Amino acid sequence: MSRALIIGAGGVASVVVHKCCQNSDVFTEICIASRTKSKSDALKEKLDGGKTKITTAQVDADNVPELVALIKEYKPDIVINVALPYQDLTIMDACLETKTDYLDTANYEPLDTAKFEYKWQWEYRDRFEKAGITAVLGCGFDPGVTGVFSAYAMKHYFDEIHEIDILDCNGGDHGYPFATNFNPEINIREVSAKGSYWENGDFIETEPMEIKKVYNFAEVGQKDMYLLHHEELESLAINIKGIKRIRFFMTFGESYLRHLKCLENVGMTSIEPIEFEGKQIVPLQFLKAVLPDPATLGPRTVGKTNIGCIYKGVKNGKEVTYYVYNVCDHQECYKEVGSQAISYTTGVPAMIGAAMVLTGKWKKPGVFNVEEFNPDPFMEELTRFGLPWKENFNPVLVD
Ligand code: NDP
Repeated sequence: MSRALIIGAGGVASVVVHKCCQNSDVFTEICIASRTKSKSDALKEKLDGGKTKITTAQVDADNVPELVALIKEYKPDIVINVALPYQDLTIMDACLETKTDYLDTANYEPLDTAKFEYKWQWEYRDRFEKAGITAVLGCGFDPGVTGVFSAYAMKHYFDEIHEIDILDCNGGDHGYPFATNFNPEINIREVSAKGSYWENGDFIETEPMEIKKVYNFAEVGQKDMYLLHHEELESLAINIKGIKRIRFFMTFGESYLRHLKCLENVGMTSIEPIEFEGKQIVPLQFLKAVLPDPATLGPRTVGKTNIGCIYKGVKNGKEVTYYVYNVCDHQECYKEVGSQAISYTTGVPAMIGAAMVLTGKWKKPGVFNVEEFNPDPFMEELTRFGLPWKENFNPVLVD
């Protein structure tokens, strides 16, 4: 018997709402609160009539007093933040003030610097601990399931993990020459930033898209993938014993990269405000407004995603390699919840993480990344809620 307040009503939120309704034993009541209330109302309309009681609210999640008032009125057991990373700190402030548990899927980013770091949210550790409340950070797929996979590998197959390669492959095709699979502003900020990987205690920086590899993904096929900085590198570097190197690769098609380069060259991906017809606008935010809304890609996207982690390390003095991954079909997701696989693979883990806290399995005071919790109950729920995983003990390694 519990209540969740879901903040945001976009692509990921839609999946979270569907999945909470499928898990109605845990989520007896949910409130969908977002900036544009009509989007929350549309979601409620789609799913009303089941066992989970749904209400909606309007909230500006940049405004702490507004959030506090909503939390005090609705009295949720947890707040699931699936708005944008810019809102993480204000929502955490409101959770502190009201002593409410918190979960998100992406780390805080200041509006004016595209820098993916946990430092701002880790600074809340003492205050959450003292308040006796739990914050789960980065509980989507990557970050999220990649951290749970790492904790699972560590617990069951390794004494020490020395290397991790996280491989994020989207073999989907939406038929547009250029579109992003989740919020365009966040997505483009991520892929146009410098790359980096962790090696022997330090981050090594690379130029954007400087390192390219080719990998043959199960159920998808051969794809080009590029090394990116990604937020879970920072927490895994601290939380995985004996780790020497962590890299993150994401696949991109040629058309996507060609368009991105062109948009970059003309200044459209910049986050520096410019003056336009007497008004300040941010080019990247304008670009977002003209690109297809990721929430509309569902019906058009065909193909599969394959996201997972390859580990190298030792067990009982012997070298071990282990690959654990999930394959998700865009059209299957669309049939089930009306969204493509990127929103699906993010929303399912967010719901499961919240259920872990609500059922006491991941309940401890403080601010945590997912690999700091027991992975086993989460891994079971992944299979139950649509993201089954596969293991390979003799994988092809990335050179
Ligand atoms: P969308 O842009 O589709 O949705 C964002 C939602 O947040 C919208 O409903 C938007 O409202 C709402 N919102 C934005 N600002 C505010 C505000 N100030 N107050 C209240 N609501 C607000 O994004 P996605 O659903 O694609 O992504 C959601 C989150 O998931 C992002 O943080 C993203 O980084 C993360 N993500 C994580 C992944 C992972 O694997 N870990 C993968 C993919 C995404 P409005 O409609 O008014 O704009």
